[in-house]
Amino acid sequence: MKIFNSLTMTKQEFVPIEPGKVRMYVCGPTVYNLIHIGNARPMIVFDTVRRYLEHRGYEVNYVSNFTDVDDKIIKAAVEEGVTAEEIAERYIAECKKDMEAMNVRPATTHPLATKEIPGMIEMIGKLIEKGHAYEKNGTVYFSTRSCRNYGELSHKNLDDLRSGFRSLKVSGEDEKEDPLDFVLWKPKKEGEPFWTSPWSDGRPGWHIECSVMAKRYLGDSIDIHAGGEDLVFPHHENEIAQSTCANGVPFANYWMHNAFLNIDNKKMSKSLGNFFTVRDISQKYDLQVLRIFMLSAHYRSPLNFSAELMDSAASSLDRIRRAASRLKDLASAGDGAALTEAEEKVLAEAREFVGKFDEKMDDDANTADALSVIFDLVRFANTNVPDGAPAILAEGVLGVLTELSDVLGIIPLVDEGSIDAEIEELIAKRQAARKERNFALADQIRSDLLARGIELMDTREGVKWKRI
Ligand code: AMP
Ligand code: ZN
Repeated sequence: MKIFNSLTMTKQEFVPIEPGKVRMYVCGPTVYNLIHIGNARPMIVFDTVRRYLEHRGYEVNYVSNFTDVDDKIIKAAVEEGVTAEEIAERYIAECKKDMEAMNVRPATTHPLATKEIPGMIEMIGKLIEKGHAYEKNGTVYFSTRSCRNYGELSHKNLDDLRSGFRSLKVSGEDEKEDPLDFVLWKPKKEGEPFWTSPWSDGRPGWHIECSVMAKRYLGDSIDIHAGGEDLVFPHHENEIAQSTCANGVPFANYWMHNAFLNIDNKKMSKSLGNFFTVRDISQKYDLQVLRIFMLSAHYRSPLNFSAELMDSAASSLDRIRRAASRLKDLASAGDGAALTEAEEKVLAEAREFVGKFDEKMDDDANTADALSVIFDLVRFANTNVPDGAPAILAEGVLGVLTELSDVLGIIPLVDEGSIDAEIEELIAKRQAARKERNFALADQIRSDLLARGIELMDTREGVKWKRI
């Protein structure tokens, strides 16, 4: 597989440190709110990379953290009058629900920053000892000038950056020896959560947590480190500085960064307020539609969110599901007849789609082209596996379709029962809304269901529904 490595800015053949095994770290969300679909982009994209590596036979140790101590979490806790821990716990649970609904597999380990403080204190101590960090009034800073390769990932001109920072000097920054130095540990403020350290009662900076968690769960050197492109500088640059200076070996061999999910060509973000949460989207669409929408673009291309693209993803999903369900029916209805020579050939041709799919994914995880291969397979199945085809043929082709869909996290065969239960639940919610004379909500549920292809009919015997 070739991966575009942000460190070298070239596509490189992937060679793991240990043959057959992959150590992969993906920066996870800060948990102070429901995740938005911008946050979902790296989750879906890198879950797909992981699935593909496993499909190629690698054993993947996949680590993704939750940042559960941070200014925004503390602010949310103060606003609600609860502890920061309560906020973090709540939104970690909600995030895990969203991940499951998007068919993003749980990581091998999901470490929490607050549970890794001893490791952070140890690494900061080591950085001070080796002359890469210094303490001023209870705050510990990383000394960027002490790190030979600082700037290698972001390819920035450090002198320009330094002079830029100097003119923008903010209060409290005066004690830094260099404007690019960053915080490893800072003293607590009144009412904030804190831990005791040799330097002050306080808490770690953000960057140190990822260096420590990657080290603890994957080792000093890892294969792939990934995250959104906004993390390249300073977060990932600083992770490299901390890890290489503390451990004395290269940190990550391949750096992968996804481009933004935009709305009206602007980054979707909490601070701009131009976001949809994954939960909002799940009210209107099956989250498999969101998954297809995300994978329809290359992960390094910006992607603009729009209802049209979501609708086109919905019809793509429908096409895959209809083909899969037809093959399943054929497999259960078909007789046990052996395959004719011509049918053997069809099955062999269907299997060739695996190679075509792999070729696309081998090219820096080109999911857009890999999806096209799945659609080609769907077309192939619709024309070459006719009604009345032998069961083994239908089963064989369905096997290929299921295998490839699964690499992209798409579920081609759905249990109709579970969807029906979800619809019944929404209908009950609509009835309750009507009882409370909340007609706006009732109408919303009706139109959301309609968007999913479900029509409600109010009859004398109660509400009935049908698929349209
Ligand atoms: P945060 O909670 O802001 O630290 O973000 C968690 C992950 O989501 C990081 O990898 C970010 O780079 C990524 N991310 C946040 N917003 C977007 C966006 N609009 N498009 C793509 N990735 C994003
Ligand atoms: Zn990180």
